[in-house]
Amino acid sequence: MKELDSITKLTESFKSFPSIGEKSAERMAYALLDMDDSKVTELVKSIQEAKEKIHSCPICGLLTEDKVCTICDDENRDHSTCIILSNEKDVYSFEKLGTFHGVYHVLGGDLSSVKGITPDKLKFKELIQRIDDEKIKEIIIATNPTIEGETTALYLAKLLKDKDIKITRLAYGLPMGGALDYADELTIGKALAGRTNIK
Ligand SMILES: [Zn+2]
Repeated sequence: MKELDSITKLTESFKSFPSIGEKSAERMAYALLDMDDSKVTELVKSIQEAKEKIHSCPICGLLTEDKVCTICDDENRDHSTCIILSNEKDVYSFEKLGTFHGVYHVLGGDLSSVKGITPDKLKFKELIQRIDDEKIKEIIIATNPTIEGETTALYLAKLLKDKDIKITRLAYGLPMGGALDYADELTIGKALAGRTNIK
């Protein structure tokens, strides 16, 4: 017997989530059918609400439900020290540490000639503007420990070489080829504390 169209559709949708293969997607689709109607309504509402309310902070690019994110809006944070991230979700690795009190700037990815991600597709221009506007004194480059992340870090160092700021890069010890959000807090804490000067 052919699978019901609605199940096939649901399975296809779930397959678009990271790490969800055909089998898991199918299990999720059947699990949804077993859920109480009220739970399903709640789930649909949460998805819609998240999509409606969450947007990128116009200053740093972190996700927020407010006009500006709570970090940019916090006067007690050190706005002169800025961690550069490839992706917005990487912020949690640093915030969990509780030892970094500066601000962030999300580039929106890493440079990659294979994927066609050129400098104009990432938020470099916005960063330069911020360095001038917010009197940033130190930039800590925390792009992913991958070839693309390295390329991005080198590009950034070159781009900012004439600016009167300190540029550091997270110390190694982070597994090369990995992603920041998979590294544990101890590793990230050490990488941050032992950051090396590149300018
Ligand atoms: Zn922000």
